[in-house]
Amino acid sequence: MKITFLGTGTSQGIPIIGSDHPVCLSDDPKDKRLRVSVMVEWGRYCYVIDCGPDFRQQMLRAGVSRIDGILFTHEHADHTMGLDDIRPFFFRQGDIPIYAHQRVLGELRQRFPYIFVNGKEKYPGAPGVREYEVVNGKPVLLGGMEVIPVNVMHNRLQVFGYRFGDFAYLTDVKTIAEEEIEKVVGVKALVINALRLKPHPSHLNLEEALQMVERIKPEKAYFTHISHMLGFHAEVEKELPPGVHLAYDNLQIVV
Ligand SMILES: [Zn+2]
Repeated sequence: MKITFLGTGTSQGIPIIGSDHPVCLSDDPKDKRLRVSVMVEWGRYCYVIDCGPDFRQQMLRAGVSRIDGILFTHEHADHTMGLDDIRPFFFRQGDIPIYAHQRVLGELRQRFPYIFVNGKEKYPGAPGVREYEVVNGKPVLLGGMEVIPVNVMHNRLQVFGYRFGDFAYLTDVKTIAEEEIEKVVGVKALVINALRLKPHPSHLNLEEALQMVERIKPEKAYFTHISHMLGFHAEVEKELPPGVHLAYDNLQIVV
C-alpha cells in the first residue's frame, strides 16, 4: 500500500495569505503545506481521504487520472470545499463514490445541492456522486480491503479516522475514547494531527500528539494538519523522538 501526502497544512494552509511570519516566508518546500489530505493506493485501487479547497492542485501535482472514491473525515471547509473539482473524474468515470458519516453527507448535500440532483433536473456539466454512509463499528469494503472507521473527537464534533490494514489516518483529533484507540494500537504507520506548540481547543498540539503516539504505539508516526506556528519543518523534525516524523507535502510512504 502506498500513501501520498497530498496536503499537510492546517485550515489556512502554509503560507497564509498576506502573512509575514518567518515560516510562511520560508524557501524550504517542506514548509509549503496545502490543506490536509492523503491518497491511499494498493493494487489497482486509489482512494483519497478528504477533498479540501486544494483538491484540484493536489490531483494535478500528484498526476492522478482516476480515483475509486473519496472518504470524508468530517464536514469542515478545509476537508470538503474541493468537491466540485471531481468533475474531470466524473466525466471519465461517472458518479464518484463518496464515503462519510450521515451528518457529513447531509452537509455536503446542502453545500453542493446541484451535485446531488438526479435525472433531467441535473445541470449539464455538474458532477455526480454515489453516497455511502459510514457507520462506526461497520468496516467499509474498498477494493477487497476492510477499512475500519475510527471515531475521534474534534472538541465536540465527531470525526472519522480510517484504518487501512496496517495504516491509520486520524486527523482533527483532540480526544479519542479508549475503545477507539484499541482499533489502531500497534499499526505500522500512524498519521495524526499536531497543530502547533500551544494548546488548542479542538486539535492536538505537539506534546499531546506525542502522548497519543505513546498510547497507540505505531512503528512509525507522521504528524499532519500543521500550522505555521509549529515552526520550521527542519527544526521541528530534528527534535522528534525516533520513529516520529513531521509529514510534508508530496511525502510518500509504503506500508
Ligand atoms: Zn481540519
